[in-house]
Amino acid sequence: MKTLKSYVVGAWRAGSGAGTALENPATEAPIAVLGTEGLDFAAVLEHARARGGPALRALGFRRRGELLKALAGALHKHRDELLDLSIENGGNTRSDAKFDVDGATGTLAAYAELGKGLDERGFLPDGEGVQLGRTARFWGQHVLVPRSGAAVHINAFNFPAWNMAEKMACALLAGVPVIEKPGTPSALLAWRMAEIIVASGVLPEGAFQLLCGSAGDLLQHMGPQDVLAFTGSSTTGAALKGHARLVGCNAHVNLEADSLNPALLAPDVEGDAPAFDLFVANVALDMTQKAGQKCTAVRRIAVPEDRVGEVVDALKGALARIKVGDPSLADVRMGPLASRAQLADVRAGIARLAAEAEVVLGGPAPLFERGYFVAPTLLVARPGARAVHEHEVFGPVATVVPYSGEPEDAIALANQGGGGLVASVYSNDAAWAERVVLGIAPWHGRVWIGGDRVAEQALPPGMVLPLSVHGGPGRAGGGEELGGLRGLAPYLQRTALQGFQGFVAGAFGAPGAG
Ligand code: NAP
Repeated sequence: MKTLKSYVVGAWRAGSGAGTALENPATEAPIAVLGTEGLDFAAVLEHARARGGPALRALGFRRRGELLKALAGALHKHRDELLDLSIENGGNTRSDAKFDVDGATGTLAAYAELGKGLDERGFLPDGEGVQLGRTARFWGQHVLVPRSGAAVHINAFNFPAWNMAEKMACALLAGVPVIEKPGTPSALLAWRMAEIIVASGVLPEGAFQLLCGSAGDLLQHMGPQDVLAFTGSSTTGAALKGHARLVGCNAHVNLEADSLNPALLAPDVEGDAPAFDLFVANVALDMTQKAGQKCTAVRRIAVPEDRVGEVVDALKGALARIKVGDPSLADVRMGPLASRAQLADVRAGIARLAAEAEVVLGGPAPLFERGYFVAPTLLVARPGARAVHEHEVFGPVATVVPYSGEPEDAIALANQGGGGLVASVYSNDAAWAERVVLGIAPWHGRVWIGGDRVAEQALPPGMVLPLSVHGGPGRAGGGEELGGLRGLAPYLQRTALQGFQGFVAGAFGAPGAG
């Protein structure tokens, strides 16, 4: 069995304890062990700050963008091997695996592209200069400078490749060295990617480190120039946000947590409209892609009361076409959940939802003798159901919530989730859609609008794109990632410069402003 070592302080190091075993979730066969016991976490942070940071910052933005391109290329060369590992350890179908692995290289490449347009100086001018004094002689200019600490990235188990790459892309382009910690159950893929990254020699020493296993007491050693970017459950996120050391030193913290993403079907969308087919296809995709283990997957399906039967029939039809089983087989469209713990959580979650809803498809019963499989499960909420707005079941599970069709009710229903990553709205009625979009926007980091006119071209709402912001308020963590150059923000300090215009504008303004 493989031992997955961590890459820290310039070497691959194994933990000292027995470690945690990783499994193939389709067969329950053990694959590897990993652990970080005995590692010196303070030294890991110091290595990043003392070696990686200065070396990265010396390169400038544009050159760092070129490094991202080289990393994307190095990883892409091993695409087939990475897809196989994702299938083996993540329970992913090949299509799920591509979503993660190609999403990772695609995001690195997208940020490489953004880097081409950036300043070669060691900072980015932030906006125009402004007159501060009686005359233009006393001048102000904001600049963004790389923080001089390390970026600690704690990632969720469901996207070991993409989650690491999207965080890395932003931090490295900004000039901040990274310490990546994948979620333990599916760490095999991130570990192999790290091997490829290290072997490629693309990054200066100290710019990239990997922890395979627990984060130990890493956070205890973080300082005011360090950044923590976390993706995972809202419970863990809240605990990390309140970590005494991080609160004490005001290290920048970005949280990406869970979300009860709503899909809102407007009453104007008839059953024969392209927007209706789009709605059904997207909901069925979200429920089954990666066995529903996607932070952006639809959990609540708002349907006008008089359309519930029609929608349930359409979704049942679409879900019946999804073959569940061994994800390494070409005709299988949905694999198992990623771990035994995940299976127990999902079964318990379905039972909780079912106390206030009718299960119209699937349910918590075991599907096969081996492996962590659960059936696509569709429920219809009873009036007054609360759990559907409070509890994320991180599996192939969604609940139809009947509503009146009025925009105000759609807004209230969507916002009852307490803050989400993405809400999808299906309507061809511009007045209805405009009202709903503005009503739900404060509670959602992204609002996706589907209608007949985009039915042919729209990318699904569950897909996170590097040029659009990812994150959301409230239970979704209150953080923000990606969104083009906005994604660099956590890693840059905004500083207001004030002084003689000739100097401030010449040295720090937009090129040509002096
Ligand atoms: P999790 O249990 O909260 O764990 C997330 C990460 O935090 C893992 O790497 C975990 O490490 C680590 N962790 C747990 N306790 C920690 C502690 N005390 N100190 C430092 N690190 C700690 O979440 P998960 O089960 O991996 O992921 C599923 C959840 O993530 C779902 O709720 C999903 O909605 C959410 N998610 C959100 C997004 C988003 O972008 N907003 C994306 C994907 C997933 P170990 O694995 O070693 O315990």
